[in-house]
Amino acid sequence: MAYFCDMSLDRSKSAELFEEAKKYFPGGVNSPVRAFKSVSGPPLFIEKGNGCRITDVDQNEYIDFCCSWGPLILGHNNPVVRDFICETVAKGTSFGTPNKLGNQLAELILSKNKYIDKMRFVSSGTEAVMSAIRLARGCTGKNKIIKFEGCYHGHVDSLLVKAGSGLATFGESTSAGIPAAFAKETLVLPLNDPAALENCLAEHGHDIAAIIIEPVPANNGLLLQDKSFLECLRIKSYKYDCLLIFDEVISGFRVGFEGAAGYYDIQPDIITYGKIIGGGMPVGAYGASHEIMAHISPDGPVYQAGTLSANPVAMAAGFSALNILSAPNFYEELADKTNWLANEIEAYAIKKGYTLTVPRIGSIFWLNFSNDRITRADEIQAEGMEYFKTLHHELLERGVYLGPSGYEVGFVSAAHTMDDLKEALIHMKAALDISFKS
Ligand SMILES: *Cc1c(COP(=O)(O)O)cnc(C)c1O
Repeated sequence: MAYFCDMSLDRSKSAELFEEAKKYFPGGVNSPVRAFKSVSGPPLFIEKGNGCRITDVDQNEYIDFCCSWGPLILGHNNPVVRDFICETVAKGTSFGTPNKLGNQLAELILSKNKYIDKMRFVSSGTEAVMSAIRLARGCTGKNKIIKFEGCYHGHVDSLLVKAGSGLATFGESTSAGIPAAFAKETLVLPLNDPAALENCLAEHGHDIAAIIIEPVPANNGLLLQDKSFLECLRIKSYKYDCLLIFDEVISGFRVGFEGAAGYYDIQPDIITYGKIIGGGMPVGAYGASHEIMAHISPDGPVYQAGTLSANPVAMAAGFSALNILSAPNFYEELADKTNWLANEIEAYAIKKGYTLTVPRIGSIFWLNFSNDRITRADEIQAEGMEYFKTLHHELLERGVYLGPSGYEVGFVSAAHTMDDLKEALIHMKAALDISFKS
């Protein structure tokens, strides 16, 4: 393929650093998708970010739609967030004691979120989900978990599980190092399928502690669910006396300040957060009603702890970021911009006869190389990923950065102006022309 040969951008410093990184880290990375395995070329080593743009070590600049995989809803290096982090860090980074900023961030969140009464901060989305699962098991005295194919919940043992072969819904682990006995405690169902859910609950409901779902599944394409399906989860979890967990690590503070619970107005039992909640620092959280949270140690018997949990620097970042998000019209404006971009891309695809649609919600969008609405993981066509690979490469050449996999969604941040989006659109059109021609 000729176009791989005439790379115009010099990325030699990134390539060099990647070679060096391979000596230190498995695959040269500290999180697997960063390795660019499903697209071409070495990953970019990013030196700095400002607003919607990032700059690599070779001094190439890109309009960024990855935004650190979701946390940076305000874009890079937001001055208000940065200044408050600096002011806080000057007083020390962590004390392992309670601190006022933790209260302030919790107050800001809880006073504007009618779906949870109390919360606990942790340091990542994975930790939040892991803790929520333990809490659900501790509350119900039951063991099994229902999850949905195509939802990602971090690298929690019992959730790195896919549907087993045959008719059985018992899971099979997707990673080495997970005992089969753990995977067996997880049942895996297709998304958006109320009948499969009812069948599973009728058989196993007595032993189901929780149903966990990304209410806005955004880790394997953007598989927007029917609201009626999410409502069905609520009704069935009451009926079978299990807890409903919304994993809102992506959707929380993204599709609205109250996340997907607020967007769909559905009351889950436990909600997990991550990404945006930390304003770019490592923060996760889980929250629930007073009654459910009373099970957590030291009030109750479910143990959960963290050395750096709610450290002041992380709390300062989260607090200053979430303050900005809570301003009137913040989410409306962001969704309008995202809709504009998605509509323009779709209109161009229609005009050119390209098989591409752009599902979106709030400020999340996904390039779906299909003309069908897709709600389940098994409906994603693998061949679309070949188009994506070319598209990704061509966009990098033109100074637009998308997450390096066609299964990843894109994010529009508050720092993307209409001019930035118009610029990105021109490049998107040119890159699509090449993807669909090759
Ligand atoms: C990112 C993500 C996680 C994991 O969060 P980490 O901070 O990467 O551990 C869990 N659940 C969902 C829905 C996510 O998007």
